Amino acid sequence: FFITIEGGDGSGKSTQAQLLTDWLEQHGHTVMRTREPGGTEVGVEIREIVLHHPGEIAPRAEALLYAADRAHHIATKVRPALARGEIVIQDRYIDSSVAYQGAGRVLGATEVRELSLWATDGLLPDLTILLDLDETVARARLNAANKRFDRLEAEKNEFHARVRAAFLELAAAEPTRFLVTDAAAPVDTIAAILRARVAELLS
Ligand code: C5P
Repeated sequence: FFITIEGGDGSGKSTQAQLLTDWLEQHGHTVMRTREPGGTEVGVEIREIVLHHPGEIAPRAEALLYAADRAHHIATKVRPALARGEIVIQDRYIDSSVAYQGAGRVLGATEVRELSLWATDGLLPDLTILLDLDETVARARLNAANKRFDRLEAEKNEFHARVRAAFLELAAAEPTRFLVTDAAAPVDTIAAILRARVAELLS
C-alpha cells in the first residue's frame, strides 16, 4: 500500500507519519517511511537547489525540479518497496505539486498533475491523508517551536491561502482517496483517526 501525507508547512506531517509508521511496525508490517523532496541521495541535492532559492527559481523550472526529484524517488525507492509488499508512508507527493506549483505558483493544476503523472509513470497513492491547517495557526505553531520554515517566511499569506484551497479542492474531487483531518486537533486525536482509516484500508 502507498500512503501519502499532505498539508502545508507546520501542519504536523512528519509527526503523524512517524506515529503511523511506529503503529504499523508494532503490528508486524514492514514500512518504508520516506518523503519528497529529498527521499533519495540525488533528491537531497535537488531539495537543496530548490529550497536554497525560495521564490527565485522560475516557476516552470521549480516544477521540473520537483518532478525530477519525484521521478527518481518513485523509480528507485518507492516502486521497489511496493513490489516487495511493503507499506510506503510518504510525506508529500503529486498533490503537493498541484497545490504549490499549480496553485501557489499559478502554473495550473492540470499541467502540473500531468507532469507528475508522466514523471511517475502514473503511480497514484491508495490513500492520501490531508492535514488541513490555517496558515496563521501554522505560523504561530512554528514560531512557538522556534522553527524556521523557508516557505512560511519567504511567501506571502496569499500564496499559502492558494495552496490550502488547492489541497481542499483536490480532496473534494477524490473523496475516496483522501482523508481530510483538522490539523489543529490534538496529536493523539489525529493519530487515532489515521490509524482507524489505515486499519480499514489494510483489512
Ligand atoms: O515538507 P517539507 O518541509 O519537506 O517541504 C519542503 C518545502 O518545499 C516546503 O516549504 C514546501 O512548501 C515546499 N514544497 C513545494 N512544492 C512541492 C513540495 C514541497 O513548494 N511540490
